Amino acid sequence: MSSDSDGQENGNGTGKRSFAAHIFAPIKITWDQFVDLIIPFNHSPHIRRHAASVTISRVQLMSAIFGLLVPMLSIIDWFVFPWPQWAMMTCLRILSGAIFFLLAWPWNIEKTRQQADSMLMAMLLVPPLFYLMSIKIIEPLELTEFGQLVAKLYSLMPNIVLAGLAMFPLTAFEVAIFATPAFVFAIVGQFMEGQALSLQVHGPALWLMVLVMGVAMFSGMSQLHYMSALVNKAMIDPLTQAYTRRSGNETIELLFRLSSLQNTPLSVAFFDLDKFKSINDTYGHEEGDRALRTLSDKLKAGLRKGDVLVRWGGEEFIAILNNTDAAGARVVIERLREAGFGLRPDGAPLTASIGLAERIRDATPDWAHLVEKADGRMYEAKKTGRDRAVFPDNVVLAFSSAPAQ
Ligand code: GH3
Ligand code: MG
Ligand code: MG
Repeated sequence: MSSDSDGQENGNGTGKRSFAAHIFAPIKITWDQFVDLIIPFNHSPHIRRHAASVTISRVQLMSAIFGLLVPMLSIIDWFVFPWPQWAMMTCLRILSGAIFFLLAWPWNIEKTRQQADSMLMAMLLVPPLFYLMSIKIIEPLELTEFGQLVAKLYSLMPNIVLAGLAMFPLTAFEVAIFATPAFVFAIVGQFMEGQALSLQVHGPALWLMVLVMGVAMFSGMSQLHYMSALVNKAMIDPLTQAYTRRSGNETIELLFRLSSLQNTPLSVAFFDLDKFKSINDTYGHEEGDRALRTLSDKLKAGLRKGDVLVRWGGEEFIAILNNTDAAGARVVIERLREAGFGLRPDGAPLTASIGLAERIRDATPDWAHLVEKADGRMYEAKKTGRDRAVFPDNVVLAFSSAPAQ
């Protein structure tokens, strides 16, 4: 995706705007952001996590409502259907209600994307299954007019599912995936009612479903966009575009828990720029800010996609290297140092003192200890001459023999 399709950049000066820029201008959205609303594969971990958490809360809210409503509506079946159909429908309703209650229950869970997806899919599968089973139950009956009306309303169940999707911050791709069962059930339902699929009869119903799905897509995408904007604002440091310390805390806490559960390595590299204050003192705060931005850009460019860069304090950054042991982290740090951390205003290379800690090697009980260990080693690197990295087991990687000035 070229950056000039981003709109804002080439929106002025040339007097010519790209088609994409023109379309997206009123909602202030870049091409990359738009792609992120269509497919979920490039979302950052914190967006994934927030979307998962919002999705789970809404699944629980909707399930709680349905958990009450679905069994309560048995009253209608008692009036409409004869024995034993009304009893069978009531059993079906109680069963559905029980599944909704299970979904609504405040389980103590991690709230991962996978859990959110499974819970949402489970909730969405109940109404269409209910619909298919109700067809089987009602099938042998000669229904009164009111009974026919109720049966018709049941056949709207897949539409209700599709409309319900509009409640969730989902990409267009995810809405399409979650909508698939509703379409399958609607078509299977038609066959079960003994009807052959005909474009004339079923075309309009399916078209309506496509429209409802389209509306759900727009709603899901706009919710996702709004949520991402808010989350980014709260979580991204405006100067360096690294994560803020607060969001860094949340991220490392989660990654630490996951790596403990899965018994995978987790490294934290603590960076503190050398003699940074002198840039501010000699060249002014603006130059200091510029150096921080360059450093952050360089670090981000050198890290892998799953790694997380956090601005921990003024000129201190931590890189959370997921699924990386100390040896792997050493490779990363060597690569970063090779690419450089930017230049001082006088043209000299900017250097950093780096401390590295790894969860398994350092046997740290929690994430705070892991960061503390990395911080301690960074301090060692400072004390022993700067422009170097200190690893577990007192392994030191001095980048230049002379201490940084
Ligand atoms: P050392 O090699 O011992 O780390 O020396 P240092 O000068 O880097 O050490 P110190 O931690 O004392 O200095 C950090 C300085 O970073 C202090 C503060 O003025 C500066 N700083 C912190 N945040 C910002 C910021 O957002 N912008 C700018 N320009 N400077 C900042
Ligand atoms: Mg410092
Ligand atoms: Mg410093």
